[in-house]
Amino acid sequence: MSILITPTNFAELSLIPPLLARLTELAYQQPTPIQAQAIPNVLAGHDLIAGANTGSGKTATFALPMLQHLFLQQNAKKSSASKGNYVSGLILVPTRELAKQVADSIKSYAVHFNGAIKTVAVFGGVSANTQMQALRGGTDILVATPGRLLDLIANNAIKLDRVSTLVLDEADRMLSLGFTDELSALLALMPNKSVPKQRQTLLFSATFPEQVQALTQELLNNPVEIQVQSSDASTLVQRVFTVNKGEKTAVLAHLIKQHQWRQALIFVNARNHCEHLATKLSKRGITAEVFHGDKGQSERSRVLAGFKAGEIEVLIATDIAARGLDIEKLPVVINFNLPRSPSDYMHRIGRSGRAGEVGLALSLIDHEDYHHFNVIEKKNKIRLEREQVAGFEADEVLLSDADKPMAKPEGSGKKKRKNKKPVNADIWLRNSDPE
Ligand code: AMP
Repeated sequence: MSILITPTNFAELSLIPPLLARLTELAYQQPTPIQAQAIPNVLAGHDLIAGANTGSGKTATFALPMLQHLFLQQNAKKSSASKGNYVSGLILVPTRELAKQVADSIKSYAVHFNGAIKTVAVFGGVSANTQMQALRGGTDILVATPGRLLDLIANNAIKLDRVSTLVLDEADRMLSLGFTDELSALLALMPNKSVPKQRQTLLFSATFPEQVQALTQELLNNPVEIQVQSSDASTLVQRVFTVNKGEKTAVLAHLIKQHQWRQALIFVNARNHCEHLATKLSKRGITAEVFHGDKGQSERSRVLAGFKAGEIEVLIATDIAARGLDIEKLPVVINFNLPRSPSDYMHRIGRSGRAGEVGLALSLIDHEDYHHFNVIEKKNKIRLEREQVAGFEADEVLLSDADKPMAKPEGSGKKKRKNKKPVNADIWLRNSDPE
């Protein structure tokens, strides 16, 4: 890869005036690191693997060059969108909410194109007929979840054989086992990556686990790889609290009441846990709403809109809320249950501290979680001091060497404590509360 001088303003990125005008209106003062490094490469037509922290401006990184390319192509009257049920730019995402959010962002970036670029979002849980109507005559950009897209293709509502740009957002999830069959079926309908100039492929994710890296070879043609992981410059503070088994709900209620966060997003591992925890919190005087895959789409949309608008203060969710969702200035994410996969930990906590805002991510771990949290730390190359919440100190337990929460201080000579003396976490939280 040639050495690139990283541009420090959008004008240097060779973006066209209607896009620059919009970025000024949106008060985007300068490109984020991933935008500065990736946009020139995307505009130059390269395939791309981009790893950047969640909330770092990835949507604009693929949306701006894609919009520019299609707009210029259309002005040169080369667009295929008006010639049938074709799509030029296809963005695949793992969740319905992300499909809508990405499409809304693209439409917002394109306002000065005066309707010249059509963008449609399709996802499950809502009427397919409305989406078929929206797709009539084709679309320039389609943001889709894979299952609904396959249904629409089966109904001849859209064809993929003229896709010139394919984006996999949250690529590690899109390439994971759950989506393999759907993704293979969709790829078989698109132009082949190995025919030069036919299909540009862009992969974006905050994490690229090893097993996914192998798959990328099959998808991409001589890709440029850009990694912008800015953990040291991160504005997101991570904390972990040890609690006794059976006391997590009490600790959670205590923290919520004490800190009165404007909003809190709480992650649990199962749909029924959402309801269960909401009921338990309600008995402690805290009203919480739930967000998970068993809810109908209109309920999901209502809850998410209410949370984004700040009308819902406490939201309990499964990992469907872990990916890509942009909740402005979300003060805190709490892992009530730890996610199974270490990369999901990064996606979950990335809902807070987005776009350079201050954020806070708390994890509550009981003794059974110690080992798994060590694994999460190791995989994500982080190490957090175990703390306790005053008044809810965890009992000491016998731990294996691998699971000990704190390294023994060199030469201390003292009998090692299994848990550190409680630090006054509440004081810390109050002082550094991102409110
Ligand atoms: P994303 O990672 O694409 O979800 O973006 C996270 C948030 O950052 C969104 O609210 C974007 O509107 C915002 N954003 C993206 N790029 C910039 C930028 N260059 N300057 C300021 N905000 C940005």
